[in-house]
Amino acid sequence: MGTPLPPVVLVLGGHDPTGGAGIVADSEAIAACGGWAFTIPTALTVQNCRNVSQVMPVAPALIHAMVKALKDMEIAAIKVGLIADEATLQVVETVIRSFPGIPVVVDPVLKAGGGAELSTEGLLDSFCQRLLPLVDILTPNRLELARLTPEIQNINDDTARAVALIRQGCQAVLVTGTDDPIPGSEGNVVTHTLHAPETTRQWQWPRLEGSFHGSGCTLAAALAARLAVGERLPMACEQAQRFTWQALSQSYRPSQGQSLPCRL
Ligand code: PLP
Repeated sequence: MGTPLPPVVLVLGGHDPTGGAGIVADSEAIAACGGWAFTIPTALTVQNCRNVSQVMPVAPALIHAMVKALKDMEIAAIKVGLIADEATLQVVETVIRSFPGIPVVVDPVLKAGGGAELSTEGLLDSFCQRLLPLVDILTPNRLELARLTPEIQNINDDTARAVALIRQGCQAVLVTGTDDPIPGSEGNVVTHTLHAPETTRQWQWPRLEGSFHGSGCTLAAALAARLAVGERLPMACEQAQRFTWQALSQSYRPSQGQSLPCRL
């Protein structure tokens, strides 16, 4: 009786009460892209559509307990978003290691669109050392990419930056353009580039007016869902981008702040 459960994506990320970003966004994107989200909050946030004012990590023991309760669902992919501190990073590492052999998508959430820092100072080193080797695909925007690779001087050399991250152990990097007027995201298009050992692929999408809350979460969650249903990486990247572009193009505009993607 009933319909079989779609492939389950285990989501570890922050809760954003606006629903624009975080695990609510992930859940909507995953459902719309053919998966089912099992969401575990790694942090609660206080925020509106303009900025984030507080981030409170969830106790590691509680995260462990939520993962343990998951026994009756088979996990087909993992999507990781906000990791606010070192203790959370450790739990996330343990959780990923306990589900070997399934695709792991990590969105390195460092800063809110409104400018607030979302994780503690000094977390980047541990992120690179401990998490990157477990990642199948990392989805930084250009600014996050630059922060993850401070050793590379040339601000515009995204390829060198992506290669540096792949050398540290992640399998592939999908670099997304940002709202900022920097090369790769200028003019009428936004460019996204997939760097994988055997392929480099680039997509250009018509630039949409305005700024959006949760575009990165939407993209990474959609990508995790497409990988969970068995799509191969380049096609999963393309489908996730198309879904995200559509969600942004029909976004809702609150009275103030960034627009909220419509993922229905
Ligand atoms: N809050 C949470 C919980 C998030 O995961 C993110 C981004 O991924 C944000 C806020 C910031 O979203 P944005 O940069 O789209 O404003």
